[in-house]
Amino acid sequence: MNIVILLGAPGSGKGTIAARLAGENENLKHISSGDLLRGAVAKGTPAGLEAKGYMEKGALVPDALIAQMITDVIAETQGDVTMLLDGFPRNVAQAEILEKTGVPIRSVVLVDVPDAIIADRIAGRRTCPKCKAGYHVTALPPKVEGVCDKCGEKLVIRKDDNPDTVKDRLVVYHRETEPLIKFYEQRGLLRRIDGDQGPEKNAAAFKAVM
Ligand code: ADP
Ligand code: ZN
Repeated sequence: MNIVILLGAPGSGKGTIAARLAGENENLKHISSGDLLRGAVAKGTPAGLEAKGYMEKGALVPDALIAQMITDVIAETQGDVTMLLDGFPRNVAQAEILEKTGVPIRSVVLVDVPDAIIADRIAGRRTCPKCKAGYHVTALPPKVEGVCDKCGEKLVIRKDDNPDTVKDRLVVYHRETEPLIKFYEQRGLLRRIDGDQGPEKNAAAFKAVM
C-alpha cells in the first residue's frame, strides 16, 4: 500500500483526475476528503454535524476531525493499493499526521491552475449527489443537461461553490495549503503538472508523473 497526494486549489480538477484514474485501474483507490465530509454531513453523523458550519463558510474543518476519517479509511485498506488522496492533507499539521501513519508516500502531484481560471471553473461545476461524478457545463458536460451520465441522478451545484465562498476557499488555499509545496519539495516528492489542458490530457500528464 502506498499514497499519491493530489495538491491543488479548489477547482483545479484534482477530483476529476483521481476519479478518472481510479475508474480505469482497480489498484488505485480515490479518497476525497470533501466527499467523505459531505457524506458525513448528509448522514448527520456527529463528525458531519461538527463539520457542516466550517464547510459552508469555506473554512477548513478541524484537523483532528478529518484526520480521523482519513486514517480510518487507511486502516480499512488492504492489499496492493495506491491511494489517491484528494483534499488531504490541506495544511502542514495534517501532513505531519499523515507521516505518522507510516504509509509510504510515492509522490505528491501539484495540479497547477492560475487563480484567474478557477472562478470560471467553479461557476460551471455540477456534481452528482449520488455517485459523486463531477461535470462542467462547458468543459465536461453530461450527455443530457443536468443529469448524471453514470447513474441518472439530477446534478446539483454544491453549496460552497458560490462566488463569495470560492474567494474564501482560495484565500485558505494560499495561506494553509500552499506551504505544503515546500514541505514536499524538501522531501523530494513534489511533481507538477499543468492543470489547464482539459480533463483527458490532465489525467495523462498526472499518470506520467505519479
Ligand atoms: P475543493 O477542493 O473544491 O475545495 P473539497 O470537496 O475538497 O473541495 O472540500 C470542500 C470543503 O470540505 C472544504 O472547503 C473544507 O471545508 C472541507 N475539507 C475538505 N478537506 C479538508 C481537509 N483536509 N481539512 C479541512 N477541511 C477540509
Ligand atoms: Zn451519478
